[in-house]
Amino acid sequence: MAQSIVAHEQGPIRPPNEANSLLLRLTRNCPWNRCLFCPVYKGEKFSRRSLEEIKNDIDNIDQAVKRLITISQENGMGGTVNRDLVAQVHARHPELLPVAYWQYHRGETVFLQDADSIQLPVEQLVEILELLKEKFPGIKRITTYARSRSLLRRSVEELTRLKEAGLSRVHVGLESGNDKVLDFMKKGVNGPQQVEAGTRVKEAGLTLSEYVILGLGGRSLWREHAVDTARVLNEINPDYIRVRTLAIHPASPLYEKLKQGEFTPLDDDGVIREESLFLEQLRGIESAFYSDHILNLLEEVNGRFPQDKGRMQAVINRYLSMPGHKRELFRLGRRTGYFRTLGDTNNPSLAEAVENIYQQLQDRGITVDQYLEDLMRRYI
Ligand code: SF4
Repeated sequence: MAQSIVAHEQGPIRPPNEANSLLLRLTRNCPWNRCLFCPVYKGEKFSRRSLEEIKNDIDNIDQAVKRLITISQENGMGGTVNRDLVAQVHARHPELLPVAYWQYHRGETVFLQDADSIQLPVEQLVEILELLKEKFPGIKRITTYARSRSLLRRSVEELTRLKEAGLSRVHVGLESGNDKVLDFMKKGVNGPQQVEAGTRVKEAGLTLSEYVILGLGGRSLWREHAVDTARVLNEINPDYIRVRTLAIHPASPLYEKLKQGEFTPLDDDGVIREESLFLEQLRGIESAFYSDHILNLLEEVNGRFPQDKGRMQAVINRYLSMPGHKRELFRLGRRTGYFRTLGDTNNPSLAEAVENIYQQLQDRGITVDQYLEDLMRRYI
């Protein structure tokens, strides 16, 4: 009879680029949990998992890896975790699936969950990082989310200690650099504090990824949001800048503000104009810029500063100079998964498929905006 392995605990979210990473939960939920735009942990209480629980999970993962090797050998796959083995695990050993996916993707990256792992005492974090590296010597990158406020409670020396123990990268939800936007959205931090937190991470030699929410200033503060966010990032010069477009989930407090008329969101074209100003204001940095989120309209705005800035701006200008109906069709095609790039609008079969959806919406009396608003919420 197959040995049963207790699955390790995982939280609900991770950054888009950690899709192939092992998810190891150190804390549950978010210690702040007040950001208006964020529905993720609302109604859930923050807690730190005990060191014993976390070590137990690492042991379970280790056992799962060994069990996968045995199953692979027993099935003539030479101990490797390949596509066939993942399919077999899916059918017969679902408790091993997260570890099987991790091993299938080389088992080199780990993401520490949930929203703010840096809440754990430094000594505990060091012990966890060292244990991970000891049990899985193939690990090349360990990353975590951290709030700027929590980072400010850590000295550069403490962050350096985490780096030396194996932490590679910190993902920070900057969201905005404008104090009015940060205050309205109850982010619990201001622009100068974000600069200080980001600077400490970089001084410690950790890689820094900063997340920005396009559209977070709404109609009234979009210019300030674009200009001040760029200014803060120019001061930090993070390794990565990642953008995600605001979509207002009904479970987020911002939805109430929307209904009460206290927040008016930008439409897609407004967000792209804001992104244009934001890109234009990013100066003197050497960051990689990514739009790798399904909510972003222009996914192809990717590149490295300063050399790719002109090319990224050209993508935005190309979109904004398209005729109105073509922009509407692009938005529809992008959100329904037919188009990924502006060039896809010139593909006759893709364009025809999108035109068909457009006609069906017309026949049902639904506008593209109404349809996309509903669709976007499902992506949050
Ligand atoms: S700090 Fe992050 S996880 Fe917590 S409420 Fe704000 S956005 Fe959500």
